[in-house]
Amino acid sequence: MTKSVVGSAPGRVNLIGEHTDYNGGFALPLAIPQRTTATVTARNDDLVSASSRASGMDPVEFSVNTAPGDVTGWGAYVAGVFWALRQAGHEVPGANLRVDSDVPTGAGLSSSAALECAVLVALDTLAGLELEPSTMALLGQQAENGYVGAPTGALDQMASMHGRDGHVVLFDAARGTAEPVPCDLDAAGLTLLVIDTQAPHRHADSEYGARRQTCEAAAEALGVPSLREVQQEPAETILAKLDDDVARRRVRHVLGENQRVSETVELLRAGRIRDIGALLTASHVSLRDDYEVTVPELDVAVDAALEAGALGARMTGGGFGGSIVALVDTARASLVGDEVHRAFARHGFTAPHVFTAIPSAGASATA
Ligand code: ADP
Ligand code: MG
Repeated sequence: MTKSVVGSAPGRVNLIGEHTDYNGGFALPLAIPQRTTATVTARNDDLVSASSRASGMDPVEFSVNTAPGDVTGWGAYVAGVFWALRQAGHEVPGANLRVDSDVPTGAGLSSSAALECAVLVALDTLAGLELEPSTMALLGQQAENGYVGAPTGALDQMASMHGRDGHVVLFDAARGTAEPVPCDLDAAGLTLLVIDTQAPHRHADSEYGARRQTCEAAAEALGVPSLREVQQEPAETILAKLDDDVARRRVRHVLGENQRVSETVELLRAGRIRDIGALLTASHVSLRDDYEVTVPELDVAVDAALEAGALGARMTGGGFGGSIVALVDTARASLVGDEVHRAFARHGFTAPHVFTAIPSAGASATA
């Protein structure tokens, strides 16, 4: 009998905590209802044959012993998972693999992590590996870093693995842990809008690399392995030790953003969801002015959402395009969406896509 397993994993949005993960800091993502499934059937040989229903993604075939460079394009995310599993010493069989998804790609909702995690949980069950969710998240990150060649942190995979209905996920990058924090938006009469600006990612990869490098160099100048190590000290003391203005602003964002995540978690634990709005907006201002990763579409969307009565709004994801989140009273949700549409029309931008992010369950597999 041929054994088949369906792995399913969600996309995510990040509520707050941006550009902190690769600095050993904190982030607060949530899994969204949009998911990717990977249906995996074991084969008797060492080959993997993978197809996706997404348009423009041609089928790929590779060996389970694949190495970085063998497969490029979308198949690299899948091949990367096989590679990462084998690098970690796990035996995985050849397989036929079919991917289906309603996570939009390239919108900052982490379709890449959803794909990796769907494949990971499916292979985990198929091969009887019984890996911990956090272990799988780190393997997904390795696939993306070492095989696809994108130097991203583990936030996306952690969110996809650890999501829970009615909760956000507190990710501590230094400790590699993820913890659910209650965030029942519905009960509070609130809606978290995601507004995909449709702005093309401009220089996202090179700029992301540059931000990472600046932070790493600043940590080195401060004599610590990562900026996390100086989080407890007063920010002014730390900033005074840096002689470069750009580095100072980048570090100020990272330290401030970690602080904002902690404050958000405290408010959520106290059931004060409405009150996190100001922290979301402060995060955006810091990403715009100090970290310099926004583009006009992101800034216009945030400003329009706030003008229409959003409690808080910020870009989400790496920036240079992608989406914003806006926390709004549910009664005002459509008004806020309309106002962003109008503002985009005034600026001559492509019409945005507006939808609702509902904190949802993480990855799982069924045999
Ligand atoms: P994001 O993760 O923000 O959506 P990325 O650029 O990191 O954007 O990842 C998008 C890429 O992931 C796509 O270009 C594609 O290669 C791959 N991918 C994601 N979802 C699918 C899918 N359902 N089928 C095939 N490839 C996918
Ligand atoms: Mg991605």
